[in-house]
Amino acid sequence: MANLMRIPQSGAIAINDAVDRMNTLTLFVQQSLRENLDYGTIPGCGDKPVLFKPGAEKIATLFGLRINIERTDVVKDFTGKDFGGEPFFYFEYLCILKDRHGDVVAQCSGSCNSWEDKYRWRKSERCCPQCGQPTILKSKQDGSWFCWTKKGGCGAKYPKGDAAIESQKVGRVPNERIFDQVNTIDKMAQKRSIVGSVILAANASNYFAVEQTMTEGVEIIDADYEPAQPINNAQPMERIQVEVMPDNGNDNQARIAKVIAVTEHNWAEAKEICDRKVRPVPSSELSSVELRELIRWLLADYAVKRRYIQQDTAYGLTTELIKQQPSITDESLINRYFVRLDELAESAPVSAKTPGRQFKGVSIE
Ligand SMILES: [Zn+2]
Repeated sequence: MANLMRIPQSGAIAINDAVDRMNTLTLFVQQSLRENLDYGTIPGCGDKPVLFKPGAEKIATLFGLRINIERTDVVKDFTGKDFGGEPFFYFEYLCILKDRHGDVVAQCSGSCNSWEDKYRWRKSERCCPQCGQPTILKSKQDGSWFCWTKKGGCGAKYPKGDAAIESQKVGRVPNERIFDQVNTIDKMAQKRSIVGSVILAANASNYFAVEQTMTEGVEIIDADYEPAQPINNAQPMERIQVEVMPDNGNDNQARIAKVIAVTEHNWAEAKEICDRKVRPVPSSELSSVELRELIRWLLADYAVKRRYIQQDTAYGLTTELIKQQPSITDESLINRYFVRLDELAESAPVSAKTPGRQFKGVSIE
């Protein structure tokens, strides 16, 4: 079942183009992208799939998009002089996706900083003073401590209240190895800008969430998208059929101008044909249906004057083409009209019905 919508032709083309791209993407995601490699779920980010950088790059390639990335901001404070003594690193990139013509299709900014939870903190566990392994467990019976051999510990035992164990900080502690992760944070910012822009460009937000991060308990969502449907049972969308409803008003001038250019008329002649065949008003007041009528008569007049075709036949050709394709655009109508005229000229034998050809007033028939 097709969806019928009344919208301007240009809008329909844009929508069907989007539908085609969407269906291409659906197939591509289902058949070519690998779970856990190109996309996957991230613990703590819900069960919505997140697009990974390799998947984003494949989608960009699919649509012929080139990735341009530039760094737009950076903070590298190794000593924390500007951040209360705590080191801080911040990277921000802008990814611009361009199509084959060099036109910008989408762009997205991506950032990452060292105060995001997963970089700022590490989870600390009690370590065994003897073997150094984080394998200390508490006995449920008496509250004493033991180093668990099954987890790789040494089996040592410690009494309840032993300061060597209980004075250790556990849980969230500052990540003292943050300097090892500066490069990772830099790469993460690049990744977010690339993935975000690809999701925008490919309209892939139906399928992928954008990775969420936490900073100081505040959830940061790189882009405001949540997937509308799961990847695996996404259904292809239907193209829409359109009833032509071009814009009126100022667009009338542009529509007429195109036709008079190819049918060798001037504006005065077009006005005269409009008065005689459609109705005597300024062209800006013609309805879309009336305007189409004028275009048909301009085409027919050209065929009569330049191709020596009878008026009924000349006008009838426009009827024929519109019948074949009710939602035909002006441009298609004009193009196909000229093709039909050429076909007629080649196939039709010169007959007695052909009006006499006039050449400088002298009949050449
Ligand atoms: Zn131990």
